Amino acid sequence: MKTPFSEAIPVIEKLKENGYEAYFVGGSVRDLLLNREIGDIDITTSAKPDEIQEMFPKTVDVGAEHGTIIVLHNGKPYEVTTYRAESGYDDFRRPNKVNFINCLREDLKRRDFTINAMAMDSNGEIIDYFDGKQHLEENIIRTVGDPGERFNEDALRMLRALRFSSQLQFRLAEEVKEAITDHAKLLDNISIERKTVEFEKLLRGKNSKYAIALLMETGTYTYLPCFASKEKELHCLQKLDLSVLSSSEELWTLITYILRNVEIESFLRSWKLPTKIIKAAGKNNKLLEQLQANDWTKFLLYSAGLKSALEVEKIRLMMNGHNSISNKLAELTEMFHRLPMKSRDELVITGRDILEIISKQAGPWVAELLQEIEMLIVDGRLKNDEREIKEWLYNWKQEFGQNY
Ligand code: ATP
Ligand code: MG
Repeated sequence: MKTPFSEAIPVIEKLKENGYEAYFVGGSVRDLLLNREIGDIDITTSAKPDEIQEMFPKTVDVGAEHGTIIVLHNGKPYEVTTYRAESGYDDFRRPNKVNFINCLREDLKRRDFTINAMAMDSNGEIIDYFDGKQHLEENIIRTVGDPGERFNEDALRMLRALRFSSQLQFRLAEEVKEAITDHAKLLDNISIERKTVEFEKLLRGKNSKYAIALLMETGTYTYLPCFASKEKELHCLQKLDLSVLSSSEELWTLITYILRNVEIESFLRSWKLPTKIIKAAGKNNKLLEQLQANDWTKFLLYSAGLKSALEVEKIRLMMNGHNSISNKLAELTEMFHRLPMKSRDELVITGRDILEIISKQAGPWVAELLQEIEMLIVDGRLKNDEREIKEWLYNWKQEFGQNY
């Protein structure tokens, strides 16, 4: 059996030795059949959470009440979930009750799409009660059971359908599309954090063009934070090859750049994004604005830092329809490495040194002077050498010192 499944076989075998059933399940089985890169390995079993915890020396309880325990085996985490059936979804997002059961078929039946509802035993045999394999071959997304009912149970599944259509380059079955259109409003019940995860995956998938079209066609986009009247911007996103984006920072910089008139921080807060991303998007948008008038200068590149500079440059190139993005980014990286100094930490003098030489009362002039020195160094007009900088300061004192 292929890695990473082979590495997880001992976990399945241990469960079986103890008299339980255990199978690989969900996304990893789907991705194996599609020859895609395998992500997390999930295991479904008839063992109950406390039994799983007793059996394995290293476990993490990540939701025992829902049946999920992480088993660490050879340093790798495996999500092991007890067979369960869910009943009564009053709030369109989570079951009122989780029943642990003894039947694989019932566990597969509660899963969202047929392509995600297959299991595989430790011999590589596929268990496929809902024609998942056929739908993989047909490149189509169908729900297990009636789509309207399944979206009523958990409205997030609608966004998941769209994001899988993007990631796998699959079509939505007509009845799934119709049910999403009819039930889109239920997305109001879904937490922003869960929407954010799906929206990011949707945009960064291979067929974001199709999935964005579906967002608009089904009306689901109106239930995404601050997107209600943003058809024009969605059309703009549709035209870009978003799969070249390699981080959330890049993605949200691009989105806020395209939205233009939004207040970036409050927009990103409405998506409940981490501060790190909010800060990066704010900084990157300022750089993009500066770059509208001029190309990169050594000092702008230095001030931006390599990480932000590459994020911003990628977005500029994407927006201009460039097709040799990686060459251009390599050029910018080289330009950065050629800078005589990469950050202020490397500057060999401090404000205190300046005050010693100029002996005037401290004030904003010190920071200004430091920045002037920094610019001269970055520009290659002054060496980052203590003696040379001090000499430059003595000259400066003679020429301008009396004005301070
Ligand atoms: P990915 O490659 O993105 O991880 P995945 O299919 O593994 O895709 P997960 O969110 O990791 O998706 O979920 C694992 C499995 O759990 C799914 O394949 C599906 O069988 C089931 N599942 C997840 N979320 C839902 C849901 N909202 N409703 C029903 N089943 C779900
Ligand atoms: Mg997964």
